[in-house]
Amino acid sequence: MSDTWPNAARGTEETGIRRAAVIGAGSMGAGIAAQFANAGIPVDLLDLPGIGPQNRNAPAEAGVTRQLGIGGFTVPEAAALVRPGNVEDHLGRLSAADWIIEAVVENAALKKDLYARIALHRKPDAIVSSNTSTLLRGTLTSEMSDDVASHFLITHFFNPPRHMELLEVVADPDVPDEIVERVHRAGRAVLGKTTVACFDTPGFIANRIGCYWMAVAAIEAERHALRVEEADAVLAVFGVPRTGIFGLLDLVGLDLVPPVWGSLAHSLPAHDAIHRHDLSTHPIVLRQLEAGRLGRKSGDGFFRNDKTGTREALDLEIGEYRPLALVAAADLPAAGRDPKALIDAAGRYGDYAWSVFSHLVVYAAETVEEIAQSADALDTAVSLGYGWRQGPFALAERVGLSDIAARLAAEGRRVPVELQRAALRGTFLINGQLTAEGRRAPRIIQETPVARLEDAGDGIGIFRLTSKMGVIGPETFDVLEAALDKAGGDLRALVIAGETRRAFSAGVNLRHFLSLMDRADALDAFLERGQRAYERLRLAPVPVVAAVRGLALGGGCELMLHCDAVVAHVETRIGLPEATLGILPGWGGCTRMLDRCLSLGAADPTAAAARAFTILRAGTVAANAREAQSIGYLDRTAAIAMHLDDVERVAIEMANRMAEGYRAPEPAAISLAGGAAAAMLMAGVPPLSDTDADWHETVGRDMAAVLTGQPGGEAPWSAAPSQMHVLERAAVLRMVGRPQTRAAIDRIVA
Ligand code: NAD
Repeated sequence: MSDTWPNAARGTEETGIRRAAVIGAGSMGAGIAAQFANAGIPVDLLDLPGIGPQNRNAPAEAGVTRQLGIGGFTVPEAAALVRPGNVEDHLGRLSAADWIIEAVVENAALKKDLYARIALHRKPDAIVSSNTSTLLRGTLTSEMSDDVASHFLITHFFNPPRHMELLEVVADPDVPDEIVERVHRAGRAVLGKTTVACFDTPGFIANRIGCYWMAVAAIEAERHALRVEEADAVLAVFGVPRTGIFGLLDLVGLDLVPPVWGSLAHSLPAHDAIHRHDLSTHPIVLRQLEAGRLGRKSGDGFFRNDKTGTREALDLEIGEYRPLALVAAADLPAAGRDPKALIDAAGRYGDYAWSVFSHLVVYAAETVEEIAQSADALDTAVSLGYGWRQGPFALAERVGLSDIAARLAAEGRRVPVELQRAALRGTFLINGQLTAEGRRAPRIIQETPVARLEDAGDGIGIFRLTSKMGVIGPETFDVLEAALDKAGGDLRALVIAGETRRAFSAGVNLRHFLSLMDRADALDAFLERGQRAYERLRLAPVPVVAAVRGLALGGGCELMLHCDAVVAHVETRIGLPEATLGILPGWGGCTRMLDRCLSLGAADPTAAAARAFTILRAGTVAANAREAQSIGYLDRTAAIAMHLDDVERVAIEMANRMAEGYRAPEPAAISLAGGAAAAMLMAGVPPLSDTDADWHETVGRDMAAVLTGQPGGEAPWSAAPSQMHVLERAAVLRMVGRPQTRAAIDRIVA
């Protein structure tokens, strides 16, 4: 497997999942197979055989093609790891799989028949799991041999499988703990999911609570005579996606209401509150189904575009469309910023908000013991499964548990025991959501408002960018320089990390940069300080590992490029977009990219300069870490982590390992092609015709000059990084003098 690329993500070896198989190449199965491929794990994807003399693997191949079209793969090359096949000719391939996932149509008899056939081929330790969303594990295992049943779980993914972080896992006491743990570990390390253990109950956790909430939200909107836009706007105050309820129903598709909500209602006992808000039999849905309005898939649902493309909304009362009348947050109580103020407000908005919210909290409290191992697990499942900022319990705590209990009692409604207990304790939660990183308070060595040096133990320091989006300014360097002073003394390794899941670093603090643009000396000094600090980092006597998540752009990407090793979350955006602002990477970024292109096999300095020029001139930003590897921002040996919260741990482990017998890189000269090559680079650029063509051309010229070392002469020569740095700075100082550059930066800062 060493010669396959994408190579296996970090941590996958420990799960024992070296090869997988997915049966059913529909939207879920093919998406799950693509995610195995994104992790670098080869996978068989089997569907029904094609009909007639055509290619018998056509249905599975179509699944792969669809995933290529909708962005299921990080890079198109990953599709090569998926081997399409069919369940008549290729079941034998299952004997090589460590994990077999069934994702065929939702039909218990069909699934059970398939399990009997899988049992004939599966290797002894292989895990078998189903992606069913509505069937119980108990139903699926009723005719299974004990051996298969002891390796059988439900692994419930969300759509799209690449991007939805939740994986619900349903086992049973018959499944040995080590197998359950293996599935949780593999779900996390191989597929990047946050796994939540669920009991074997209808809808598991997220859909049980989520479908109930959707039913209440839709039905109560009609009861309170809210327009669909009003309902969506009110719900958004609770941190749910902007689609609110009616936008969400359109997205899901109204045709799914009878099977999904209907099946949930059918399998829950009569006392379950879902029967008092039964969406599957409610006129707001039935009327739409009768009219064939299924939502986005049919072009009309609760919202639609009329023939002229004007957006319209359905009037729930008369069942006809009218022009959309969006509700601004400013029109809601407390400007839509505070759920508590909203539910306390008099009027239709407040009444509706309280009705939906109180039903949600009561239902979550009533069901939590039946469906989840903890309130934390319920919150995690609901927030990740439905994209909410917080789960119902965390939301309830924000609003005030005693207040909720008191208002329910005052209205003569039942206050669930769990809510009463939580109100006394002051909390529902034990740890907060499982996604919270649960880091212990770090031991801080040094701190400014924008960066922090932490002691991670074992002589490992973490240099953390704590500013918003990890932007970099002078105070960042205060801490970085202090960290470097300790390297080789108190610290035997350094890890560079951001503060949140969203960003490693978005680059230089542009506001600060802008303030220096009219002061050449000050700007030059700021650039030089960054260059020196980054170069010191690169040559530091200790290993430096970047732990990259969210995004690493501009100066943040340059910081990453100066590290000895990188651990990146697979979905990190990485790039040097400086050219789009009319500048170039001036903290050693041009130098590092040229050096990297030289070492990527383009030993010829002209070819290396051409490659770096193509990337930098376009201001290319890779959409994910695999793409960053194919562009060259990351080298192909960079460690890719599938789960956001594993990145830092893996980086610390790597730093620890590298610290043993570490030898710093020797300062080496960089081969430059010389000015004759600069003209060649520019000659390869087609002339532009837009209004800023001249500006883009000068930016290109400045960049070509730096990457070929033109100011040092026409002929090839070689330069120390510090000489290259002088060229970078001189170019940036020239570039900031142009009005278009200033305007571009102004626009971002404004
Ligand atoms: P789908 O209809 O898109 O795909 C089902 C695929 O299974 C089809 O390609 C079909 O040809 C294939 N198939 C049918 N019988 C087969 C057989 N005997 N052998 C091999 N392949 C067979 O369905 P989907 O949306 O991908 O759902 C698949 C499963 O995932 C269902 O159990 C569903 O409940 C569950 N699920 C769906 C979603 C979702 O949002 N779509 C989310 C979570 C779980």
